[in-house]
Amino acid sequence: MHGKQGNESHALWVGDTGEGVLKVSDVWFPQQYNSPIEYVVPEEEIHRLNVKLNQSGLAALAQIHTHPGEAFHSSVDNDGSALLVLPGALSIVIPDYGFVKEDDPGIWALYQYDGRRWKETSDDKEAKRRLFRII
Ligand SMILES: [Zn+2]
Repeated sequence: MHGKQGNESHALWVGDTGEGVLKVSDVWFPQQYNSPIEYVVPEEEIHRLNVKLNQSGLAALAQIHTHPGEAFHSSVDNDGSALLVLPGALSIVIPDYGFVKEDDPGIWALYQYDGRRWKETSDDKEAKRRLFRII
């Protein structure tokens, strides 16, 4: 929806962790303000999401957002807008406002938070494709 309007969009993958695998069981779209170059999730919405996570027993596994063109972590992504700030959190950036082949992680940018900063896990397309499986 946001992409059709020429805006970035943001979502959360939620699910559970177990057996060394992250299992995504749902996608949540927070209330957010969107522009062509960023998204903002209000503090009240972040609180609401945390309450919902606690009540559901699910974990927030990854944050996902779209970019107008190339997928990468911008300075805004690194410094301000991250919803997930615990070590090990994943952040996925989808290029072209998400108008891409949805099951090709090779074109996504994938970052992980180490407790101090976000690091790109790999820029190798095949390596990224091996990390995800639709079941
Ligand atoms: Zn971004």
